[in-house]
Amino acid sequence: MITAHQLRTPDAVADAQRWTAHNYHPLPVVIAEAEGVWVTDVDGRRYLDCLAGYSALNFGHRHPRLIAAAHAQLDRLTLTSRAFLHDQFAEFCRGLAELTGKDLVLPMNSGAEAVETAIKVARKWGYQVKGVPHDQATIVVAENNFHGRTTTIISFSTDAGARDEFGPFAPGFRIVPYGDLDALAAAIDETTVGVLLEPIQGESGVIVPPPGYLRGVRTLCTAQRVLFLADEIQSGLGRTGATFACDHEGVVPDMYLLGKALGGGIVPVSAVAADRDVLGILRPGEHGSTFGGNPLACAVAIEVVELLRTGEFQRRSRLLGDQLHSGLRELVGRGLVEVRGRGLWAGIDIDPARMTGREACELLAERGVLAKDTHGSTLRLAPPLIIEPEELDFALTQLAAVLS
Ligand SMILES: *Cc1c(COP(=O)(O)O)cnc(C)c1O
Repeated sequence: MITAHQLRTPDAVADAQRWTAHNYHPLPVVIAEAEGVWVTDVDGRRYLDCLAGYSALNFGHRHPRLIAAAHAQLDRLTLTSRAFLHDQFAEFCRGLAELTGKDLVLPMNSGAEAVETAIKVARKWGYQVKGVPHDQATIVVAENNFHGRTTTIISFSTDAGARDEFGPFAPGFRIVPYGDLDALAAAIDETTVGVLLEPIQGESGVIVPPPGYLRGVRTLCTAQRVLFLADEIQSGLGRTGATFACDHEGVVPDMYLLGKALGGGIVPVSAVAADRDVLGILRPGEHGSTFGGNPLACAVAIEVVELLRTGEFQRRSRLLGDQLHSGLRELVGRGLVEVRGRGLWAGIDIDPARMTGREACELLAERGVLAKDTHGSTLRLAPPLIIEPEELDFALTQLAAVLS
């Protein structure tokens, strides 16, 4: 219920402005409750959520099975730290290992921590297994990447806003154009321990690499004895119509980096999954997290893995993705200049002569659809995978109206 003591939208927006660092520029929508694909603001207005927490809400808001798992766990045990084991831990790790087809899982909390974990493991693997001279390891990354916000991760960002004035930066990274196999091959040498990529670049506008790219990366990595680290934090767990975006090219990376939807929209849960010859190199004390793999996180994530095992969400993303993309293609030349993406995930470029991405999002919100601009005139659409065809049509209709 929306309660009487709650501030109405303008006051709630002003209050947030007053009391928080301005590291975000949110749309002036103050959400009070949500169910499925719909959220309700403090004034009782309803919106269709087409951002889904940047894909953290793949199963929608408060999916009944996830909420039930969380409630049950809240009533039993919430935190032990990793100093002890708990009864949800092994089941989660086994479930995610089976889903990824990997031997071992290392749970963390945020996506950035999964990326940091991958960097540390790749470096140690490089020194211990590949024989790279100490402290010389390099990792190749792509231009316009987004892997998180820690100081090491922003060191290899090419986004000025993410980087400027946060140096000095961590060494050991080489940046190549995304989608360019020749550039990647040229950047790899005997010091290279990993290639870290998003199989589809999310934050930079849902950029799908050219066909064969991921297969080519896999081949190069195998030939050069380099770990392929696939950051599937946004692209994974059903978003693209497959469990992992790498699946579309039949590619298996050496390590999956997962987050966002793994927490079911309830708690932050991230993890890396890899085989024993890679993840098995860590020894006690070398890496960890107080909250990583906590009982509440594991209980929710066990259920997330169960939901994904059914294949239903991947299937929905494929089918509804076709509807989304054919609807969007009709708008090209009618307010849109380009549409990209896969499954229920689209990056759309608004004709900059008409309006900015921000303006489009404000107009969409007025019409009951929530979406977020990423860069300039690009919007990212990523509705929950439980969306119904009529709801998707509603979103497309509102977008067409905004652009007309
Ligand atoms: C969101 C995201 C991250 C960072 O996750 P956080 O939970 O925000 O730290 C890393 N990589 C990709 C591809 C992401 O989309």
